[in-house]
Amino acid sequence: MHVLCLDFINSQWYQTHRPFKELLTNKAWITEFCRRWNLPVWDPETEDPHALFALRDFLFDAAVSFCKDRMLHQHQLDTLNDQLRKAVFYEQVEQPDGNGCQLRICAQRKGMDIVADRVLRSFAELITLYPAKQLKICANEECDWIFYDDSRNHTRKWCDNTCASRVKVRNYRASQRKNAQP
Ligand SMILES: [Zn+2]
Repeated sequence: MHVLCLDFINSQWYQTHRPFKELLTNKAWITEFCRRWNLPVWDPETEDPHALFALRDFLFDAAVSFCKDRMLHQHQLDTLNDQLRKAVFYEQVEQPDGNGCQLRICAQRKGMDIVADRVLRSFAELITLYPAKQLKICANEECDWIFYDDSRNHTRKWCDNTCASRVKVRNYRASQRKNAQP
C-alpha cells in the first residue's frame, strides 16, 4: 500500500545498502512525489525546505514510537494536534449553475504549506484508520525504513529483500562464530 506520509518519511535514505540520498531537495523526486499525490511542486532552490525537514524528523520519531508502542508519546500527540489545528484547508459549499450543491476544497496558503498539511493528515489517518500493528519499521537494525505491512498474514519484517538477506547473512555468520568458539 502506498501511503503519502510514508513516502515523505522515507524520503531520506538511511539504509546502509543504499547510498545516502536526500530526496526532499531532489527535483526529479519532488516532481514525481507531487504528481503521485496531486500536490503543488516546490522548488528547493528558491523555497527553503527547512520546515519540511523538521516535519519529516518529527514524523519519523512519531512513527518509530508508534511502531514500538502502538501509541505516540504525549509530546508527539500534542505537536501533531497543534499542527492539525493549523490545517490550511477548508471546505466551501457551492451551487454552480443552480445544479445542486457541491463541496470545494480550498487552501488558505500555497506550496509547501499544502504539502506539509497533506502529509500530516495522511499520518493522522494512518495511525487512526488502519490496524496499528501493521505499521512497522524494517527489522534490519541498520535500516530505518517505515512501511505499512499489507501482506496476507501481516508477517512482513523487512523493507525489501536486500535487508532480509543482509540480516540473514549476518545472523548466519554470528551463529558460525558462536559454533566455532571452544
Ligand atoms: Zn530495510
